[in-house]
Amino acid sequence: MNSKKNIVWHEGKITLEDRCRLLNQKGLVVWFTGLSGSGKSTIAVELERRLMEAGRFAYRLDGDNVRHGLNSDLGFSDADRDENIRRIAEVSALFKDAGLITLVSFISPFQKTRDFARERAGKDQFIEVYVKADLKTCAERDPKGLYKKARKGEVSNFTGISSPYEEPQNPDILLDTDLLSVPEAVQRVFDVVMERSGSKM
Ligand code: ADP
Repeated sequence: MNSKKNIVWHEGKITLEDRCRLLNQKGLVVWFTGLSGSGKSTIAVELERRLMEAGRFAYRLDGDNVRHGLNSDLGFSDADRDENIRRIAEVSALFKDAGLITLVSFISPFQKTRDFARERAGKDQFIEVYVKADLKTCAERDPKGLYKKARKGEVSNFTGISSPYEEPQNPDILLDTDLLSVPEAVQRVFDVVMERSGSKM
């Protein structure tokens, strides 16, 4: 039996336009993808601060943080990784509906899952940011010591080493952190987000 049969979508009385007018901004999902150590979290943290200083409401969903709570029941099997991203895509779409500029930083190595997140957010409210850095650079930075562990075989299915990373073919923004400083990278996303989250519908 279809368990969803008796579930009916309940419309509220506040429209997207109402919310947008009240908050003076449009909700967006800004989806950072890239290898571990490419700079996703560093850039998202700075971007969040810059946006709040500019009077915009932004909120960060970070891979590791979400695994402490919402997704603490999930491991790293293929099925659990899929479910991890599915929940994150759904939560970020809800935050976006609530009017927030939602900054999402996860490796998200597969185009299929990034496309799913775009579809859930709505393509006009989704910005895919490819944070690109050479695998060699990421392994040298190794901010969480994960490359060292992966080389010793202590982390299975590690993206870039023992699991593939599908490069975005058509990202909205490409940040090459081998070439750009953190402030330069942040500025590029900031400019696009300020324009796209402007309150005119
Ligand atoms: P990720 O979230 O992609 O796993 P992190 O942001 O946690 O990556 O780590 C990136 C590391 O690289 C940080 O230690 C950061 O200080 C460093 N770094 C050096 N140059 C850059 C740059 N141009 N952009 C982003 N991070 C940089």
